[in-house]
Amino acid sequence: MEIISKIFLENKAWAADKIHMDREYFNKLALIQEPDFLWIGCSDSRVPANEITNTEPGEMFVHRNIANVVDLHDINLMSVMQYAVEYLKVKHIIVCGHYGCGGIKAAMTKDSFGNMDVWLKKIKDVYGDNALEVDAIVNEDDRLKRMVELNVQAGVNKILSAELIKSNPSIIVHGWVYDLRDGILHRIAGG
Ligand SMILES: [Zn+2]
Repeated sequence: MEIISKIFLENKAWAADKIHMDREYFNKLALIQEPDFLWIGCSDSRVPANEITNTEPGEMFVHRNIANVVDLHDINLMSVMQYAVEYLKVKHIIVCGHYGCGGIKAAMTKDSFGNMDVWLKKIKDVYGDNALEVDAIVNEDDRLKRMVELNVQAGVNKILSAELIKSNPSIIVHGWVYDLRDGILHRIAGG
């Protein structure tokens, strides 16, 4: 369990660091949560919302799932979105995919992944809607990259079509893709 002990040790060091920088850091954070952003990203451990945007706790309300799928029938995502919009009053919703996404890659095979197939079907549907364009791309890496972008675009479109967002037109919806190889975010839809 050494690996777990290390996490608690690192947590103490991190908390001490924050206090060192600002004695009131946790007191202020505990009082209020006023994030401007709702982040909908992939669960991939290499794409942590706060780290890659250099934001602090309190700045981003976060929902993550495999391949940052937006499904208006997903009660988890829709509850997060409703809370973010109606109670936290976020100003921006960001759908962020990433190149090299394992979920997208898995969905683009004919293999079965057990329970995950239900989830991956939502990505297969994005492919189905764009098969002509995607199939025309010869290189496999480029094909997967395009699917990552199309999946983000589909997510943005779905959010824009949600009643919750239509009735809050000041909210700006963004579609971004993060590149694992250089750490850079790219705008590809919305905004
Ligand atoms: Zn991913």
